[in-house]
Amino acid sequence: MSWTTRATAHIRQFPVSKTLQTLLILLTVAFTPNLVVAAAAPYHTTNFTIYAESAEVAKEVGDKAEYWRKELSQEWLGKEMQNWFRPCPIKVKVGRLGAGGVTTFSFDRGEVFGWNMQVQGTLERVLDSVLPHEITHTILACHFRRPLPRWADEGACTLIEHESEKSRQIKLLGEVLEQGDRIPLRQLFSMTEYPKDMHNVMKLYAEGYSVSDYLVQQGGPRKFLAFMELAHQENWDKALKTHYNIDNVESLEKYWTKWTVAGSPRLNDPEGTMVAENTQTPAVTAKPEPPIVRGQSPEQSAPAVAVRTTSTAKASRLDLMLPVLVREIEN
Ligand SMILES: [Zn+2]
Repeated sequence: MSWTTRATAHIRQFPVSKTLQTLLILLTVAFTPNLVVAAAAPYHTTNFTIYAESAEVAKEVGDKAEYWRKELSQEWLGKEMQNWFRPCPIKVKVGRLGAGGVTTFSFDRGEVFGWNMQVQGTLERVLDSVLPHEITHTILACHFRRPLPRWADEGACTLIEHESEKSRQIKLLGEVLEQGDRIPLRQLFSMTEYPKDMHNVMKLYAEGYSVSDYLVQQGGPRKFLAFMELAHQENWDKALKTHYNIDNVESLEKYWTKWTVAGSPRLNDPEGTMVAENTQTPAVTAKPEPPIVRGQSPEQSAPAVAVRTTSTAKASRLDLMLPVLVREIEN
């Protein structure tokens, strides 16, 4: 399949049960150019141009967008991305709306261009969930320069969302597993597009988030990207064996299921602390932001895991981890 000139829409899930097509139409309508004409003058940062209904919101979103772009590229790539040739326009709609966003861009001959981002929701959720989610899409697109499998793309982007958003995914996942209605991982991993019906879209998000969380908690963000790359070059089983020392997708499914049934407990404190724990509330924050812990060099994968739990908790936690990472701790 050719990836050239393929426009890609990345949708951050909305808490509504409509078809994806309807969702896209609603979004398009919601962000009509008329809104922009009536809005404040656009706010310009180095990499973004923000259109919002007030200058204050535009500035807050623009400054936060630059913050997330810098922090998340450090987190995922171990370095700050170069400035884009053209800024990414962000259209913002703030109010008592379901939190959501769409980012579109195109790939052509290994390049990514034509950014267009739309975000909406309460200002708090736009700043702490929708914006970092959508910006993670742009970072992954710049890194891989090709469309990613949807589960991993959406899963990785959801990792940075606020805990309240992630707990919605966990709740949905629990229901899906209880009903025996999951998308088997082998099938999930082969999906290059969103499913046609919204129920399956929601399952893709929930399972994609949970599997990404399970892997990133144990190996860190950069190992996850290396895993994705090898899966693209070879296949999922080879990539799992190489990076996580498990035989195949079905083995991963067994480990992951055991972990989810145990309530998806936190497994460690990898270098990706930030993507694992976004509990900050920038708009109304009273707490300091959580520390960002990184490896010493961009090439270094996660420094195993820091065990801070009691020995009893450690034993049960190890039981839920992938074998290769258990060995790293025990050594
Ligand atoms: Zn998304």
